[in-house]
Amino acid sequence: MTKLKIELGVDNPILRAKSKPVKKFDAELRKFVKDMKETMFSADGLGIAAPQVGKNIRAFIIVMDYNKKSETNIPMINPEILEKSAEMEEGEEGCLSIPGQFAKVMRHKEITVEFFNIDGVRQILNLRGLNARVVQHENDHIDGILFIDRLEAGAVIEKIEVGSKKRNGEEGKKI
Ligand SMILES: [Zn+2]
Repeated sequence: MTKLKIELGVDNPILRAKSKPVKKFDAELRKFVKDMKETMFSADGLGIAAPQVGKNIRAFIIVMDYNKKSETNIPMINPEILEKSAEMEEGEEGCLSIPGQFAKVMRHKEITVEFFNIDGVRQILNLRGLNARVVQHENDHIDGILFIDRLEAGAVIEKIEVGSKKRNGEEGKKI
């Protein structure tokens, strides 16, 4: 496995492009997903999207059920959010591509997401809370949208020193 370089910056053209669907579920994709996973874990992330490591394809990985017994990680290829709850929820987000910045973002509380797994098999999941938040954040990445674009007028962006130990657990996780 190879740790990949994380693309940084709100004006980075790779992070701002709309990514293209994955066409081939082959060994190259499998290797890329493994490398993304390693990059995500070594950067202490709860999710990572392909553009964040320089590839404009519609693929991301999320950590599901973070900090629970059932915690696992799921690669999602060519995802589509099919349904979104009217109910919204506010929660803090950070991003591997915007180090040291955190803000409260409104997201749909529940979503239904369709995606293909690494073998090209179609799956559907109903997600809520943090799981739904991470998918919405990552799905934005493959459309060139960053969490700072989603802030309400007057929202506060908290800036902390990169690498600071001030934050632990879920609150300091980046997606
Ligand atoms: Zn992000």
